[in-house]
Formats: sequence, C-alpha cells, structure tokens
Amino acid sequence: MSHQLPPLRCTRCHTEYPVESLVWHCPCGGVLDVADFGARLPGRSELATRPATLWRYAEALPVPELAEVSLGEGMTPVVPAVGLADARVKLEYLSPTLSFKDRGAVMLATLAKLLGVRRLIADSSGNAGTALSAYAARIGVPCEIYVPASTSPGKLGQMRAHGAEVHLVEGNREDAARAAKAAAEAPDASYASHMFHPYFLHGTKTFAFELWEQGMPETVVLPVGHGTLLLGAYLGFQELLAQQLIPRLPVIIGVQSANCGPLAVAADTGSPSPAVITPVPTRAEGIAIAEPARGEAILAAVAATGGTILGVTDDQVHTARAELAAAGFYVEPTSAVCWAAIQAARTGAAPASPAWATATPHLTGPLTLALSGAGLKSPN
Ligand SMILES: *Cc1c(COP(=O)(O)O)cnc(C)c1O
Ligand SMILES: [Zn+2]
Repeated sequence: MSHQLPPLRCTRCHTEYPVESLVWHCPCGGVLDVADFGARLPGRSELATRPATLWRYAEALPVPELAEVSLGEGMTPVVPAVGLADARVKLEYLSPTLSFKDRGAVMLATLAKLLGVRRLIADSSGNAGTALSAYAARIGVPCEIYVPASTSPGKLGQMRAHGAEVHLVEGNREDAARAAKAAAEAPDASYASHMFHPYFLHGTKTFAFELWEQGMPETVVLPVGHGTLLLGAYLGFQELLAQQLIPRLPVIIGVQSANCGPLAVAADTGSPSPAVITPVPTRAEGIAIAEPARGEAILAAVAATGGTILGVTDDQVHTARAELAAAGFYVEPTSAVCWAAIQAARTGAAPASPAWATATPHLTGPLTLALSGAGLKSPN
C-alpha cells in the first residue's frame, strides 16, 4: 500500500479498523467514522489557482488525489432564489449524475480503485445508485445496486446505462438495504454504502467548504433521509470552525417528509434517537428512510447548531416543486422539501410544534438551501 489511508473508528466502542479491511460496520452495532487525519484546507490564494471540482480541497480529503476518477463533481453554483431577497439556492442537481451523491460516490470509487476492489454493491432509493453506477463505470469495476421496485424509472435507466446490474427488491427502502448487505457478504464484494461508509461523508463535507468560499450563510436548509448531505455538511463546518476559518457553525435545519419522518418526530418530542414510525409512501422518495443508520448523530448535529428537523406534507412538496419550476429550477419532488418548509414558515402555515417554533426564526431570515436532485429522473 503506497498510500497511508486514515483508519475507521467505531462511534460506539471506539475499535479501529484499517479501511483496507472493507469493514462497513462494527460487530458491536456501532457505525464507523474516519479516525482523525488532520484535514487542512489550503489558503484562499492557493484555492484560487485550483480547478473547480471538490479535488480543490485535496488536503482535506481522506484519499490521495486521483484526477482520473473525477467526473468534474463539486463547485455547484449558488444563485438567488426568486421572490425571496434573503434566500440563496445551491444547485446540487447540476452534479455529473444530477444529485449531490456524486460528492460521496467519487470518494468511494477512489477508495475502491486504490484498494483494488473487484465488485461494488450498494442499496439506494435511486440517486446514490446512479452516482455509484457512474463512478464504478469510470473506474471499470462491476457494480450491483439494490433498489425498491417502486424506484423512479428514470433513475433505473440511468443506472443500467452506466452498466450497473440493478436488482429490484419488493418492499421498502429497508428491504433493499437488507438484500444489499446479504449480497455484500460474498468474498469478492465490497459494500459501498453511502449511509454506512464514512468516506462518503468526507466527500459530502465539501458542500460546506464550497459555501465558505461562495459566502457563508447564517442558516442552511437541507433534505434529510439517511443524512449523508446533512452530516457531511456538519463535518465540513466543524472542520472550518476548528481551523478558525468561520466564527461559528451555521444553523442547520433538516427537512423530511411527514409521511416518513422519524427524525422530525424525534426533534419535536426532544428524543435523542429516531422515532419508531410506520412509513407511508411519499412523493419524496429520496428521503423515505424509516430507520436512518446515523439517526442519533443527525439529531445531535442539528441540535449543536441550534437547528432542528422538520416534516412537510406531500401536498406542500407538490406545491413547492411547482413553485421552484416556475422560478426556473427543475428538481425532483424530494428536493422540494426545503422550499416547502421555508414557505410554510414564511406564510404562517407551519404547525404549532416545538421543532417549528425553533426553526421559524431561522427560516424567515437569511439562508441557503440545497436543491439536491434533478427533476428529469422523477417526473411526478
Ligand atoms: C439521497 C438524496 C437525499 C437525501 O440524502 P440522505 O443522505 O438520505 O439524507 C435528498 N435529495 C436527493 C435528491 C437525494 O438523492
Ligand atoms: Zn463498535
């Protein structure tokens, strides 16, 4: 091994594992994080000379830079929202495979290439699978994706176009995850899970670094299912704070579907753990996660910033998606949840609940929201 890769550490029992072991969770039941590796951001004058991809932060990433794995991911634009002078929109749907998942997928693909992994397995509600399919194709490694049978045809077509073997699993998102974990037990397989593999979060943390360059917001509004964008952003903001590049963490407001909102329910009741819920189907398929793998970490992260997690209804999502389209942003319904929450807070349509009471002052002030995935994949 010519590169020194930072090891993984269990968040519960603190056992360390070399990343080369392809371990994706601890036998104690804990999830893994990357052990400290002294991430550093280059100075602004140095950054000005770098390409407009997330590899501009190479010193802060847990893998050595391998330009040939890049599809040009990162450095998505930030533009003003229409109609709200104090809201800005980060266009994550302009990523190479049309969602923010490319930020994490490029880390997993780079790692897979370094380690000589022969087969990648993942489960997905769609966009993690399309991202991994594209990056697996880029490194020439076969890839199998387990998805709920109800996944949008546009996403399935995209995975197959990149050469992935797509397995349609009857049932919900959790059933797809179980099937993928079972398949990943095979000796030549590696579970490239966006929610379990912590290198994914070190890709999505570049979302925060970019906001630092593009203008730090007071409040960031993000969609949440497994929390890979939210936890990555939180990690990035923490690293910026540790290097004294920002004076404080921005307030992070996460938004779920009320039909499948274990974190929103927990935030409202003040519980540190995701609520046990019975999920109802939702238009927001990309965040229909009943059992978020890092749920406690998500709740702790938003609380540490003074933020919270909200739930929005499918009707609000439908309206918000149309409003975004009318403003020129064509995103999938999942990506409209943040706009729906902002509108609810600003029009007084928000429910009288503890989480909304916490969020409303922030949602009615200056903020940046993420538009996470493109509309063409999910026409309804
Ligand atoms: C995956 C996804 C999300 C949610 O990401 P999590 O990591 O599950 O929180 C939001 N929007 C889109 C478009 C996605 O693909
Ligand atoms: Zn452990």
